[in-house]
Amino acid sequence: MIFQSINPFNGNIFLEHIVLSDKQLDEKLSMSASAYKNWRKTSFEERAEKMNRVASILIEKKDELATLITSEMGKVLAESRAEIEKSAGNCRHYAQYAKKYLADEQLDTPFKSFAVYDPVGAIFAIMPWNFPFWQVLRYSAPAIMAGNVTLLKHAPNTIGCAKAIEKVFLEAGFPEGVFQELTIDIPQVEKVIASDIVQGVTLTGSEFAGSSVAAIAGKHIKKSVLELGGSDAFIVLDDADLAAAAKVATQSRMLNAGQVCISAKRFIVTEKIADEFLEIFSNNIRELIQGNPMLDGVNIGPLARLDLANKLDNQIKKGLDQGAKLIVGGGVEGCNFQPTLLDRVSPENITFREETFGPLATLIRAKNESHAIELANSHRYGLASSIWTKDRERAFKLARHIEAGSVFVNSLVRSDSRIPFGGIKKSGYGRELGGIGIREFMNMKTVVIE
Ligand code: NDP
Repeated sequence: MIFQSINPFNGNIFLEHIVLSDKQLDEKLSMSASAYKNWRKTSFEERAEKMNRVASILIEKKDELATLITSEMGKVLAESRAEIEKSAGNCRHYAQYAKKYLADEQLDTPFKSFAVYDPVGAIFAIMPWNFPFWQVLRYSAPAIMAGNVTLLKHAPNTIGCAKAIEKVFLEAGFPEGVFQELTIDIPQVEKVIASDIVQGVTLTGSEFAGSSVAAIAGKHIKKSVLELGGSDAFIVLDDADLAAAAKVATQSRMLNAGQVCISAKRFIVTEKIADEFLEIFSNNIRELIQGNPMLDGVNIGPLARLDLANKLDNQIKKGLDQGAKLIVGGGVEGCNFQPTLLDRVSPENITFREETFGPLATLIRAKNESHAIELANSHRYGLASSIWTKDRERAFKLARHIEAGSVFVNSLVRSDSRIPFGGIKKSGYGRELGGIGIREFMNMKTVVIE
């Protein structure tokens, strides 16, 4: 069986990858087990030296790696370069802070007791194509700095990126087996999860994929972390700076051609300012330049695969049948989807209820502030959210009422190495990044000394 890397802008097949046989997969699992035996004993200093080297190599090869990202999944080249820089930054962050995050904790008891953090084995990651470097470095830098090793099953359309990342780890001096890419198909996933060396599973992707993988992990009593879909609310209240809000709204929704789990998808705007906001927002969207993602000045490239473009097209058609009003865009040619804006979207509309993974913004009119919060929360997903208002104290209070893993006030929702990231409800469970992220796949061992 073969996976192909297909440039979504022009349909060219430019790489082919042979799927591992079961025998080859067994060899990789054994290599992971033997690498772990030594790697777990290394010092933070040794790990940090190599992890900083990964960061340096990523920066040295930034243009080459960014071109690979854009060729495989279609995001504009400037965004691919920024993704490489952000991935390098995450390596540097965990190289610097892993020791502090995993320091022994003395417990408050009349006898001497500690919580200490030990590595557990191999972390198996199943990753999607939308941030093919960032998502991989996001989980692997902390896992490896903690003394674990890792196995990666990347999305079939970004195997070129997976192989390039493995190469960077080897060039940085990591022993073979600490970071391994597995070109495998879905039926081989259970074999990996079941193997003794694997002690944790992390998945970023759709709700369906998360549910299937977590069920297998549960069967084999392996811990899982799930980062799944989102339909983030972007709440604009009466007193918001509308120009600033509309600028970030455009950025949030249209970055990576809208294929971002934490991009704002539902723009919930109070009735009083809805028309004014709509005018600025729609003008911003009209100004976006769509085209070849390799060219400077292009803001929106193609969607990563044809089936994703077809899915979004169907969602928009149904949404219009269900009463939404088309303000901008709506057209699609191959993978190239026009930036689109719908107004008068009701909570029953398919484009409100489902995750829409592409350049589609939906405007929902709320009667008032409490109605806006109610609309934001009336969703199966709970990944992130933002509130736009000049009253920051009020916003802080409202933030407590939002059902989501994070709330940003007057700011673009974004992931950051220093702060925890993750969702609730059908958006998944567990956290990545920050101190809590590195502790997810550790044995927090209690030691009592009498
Ligand atoms: P998937 O969730 O299907 O793919 C993500 C990763 O999970 C891939 O590596 C995929 O591998 C793997 N996977 C899928 N099903 C299983 C399974 N049963 N067992 C083990 N691994 C599995 O996303 P798609 O690429 O198909 O996109 C579909 C939709 O998912 C999008 O339209 C979007 O709504 C959502 N999505 C959300 C993301 C997010 O960041 N929130 C990221 C990607 C997608 P394989 O391709 O081999 O099946």
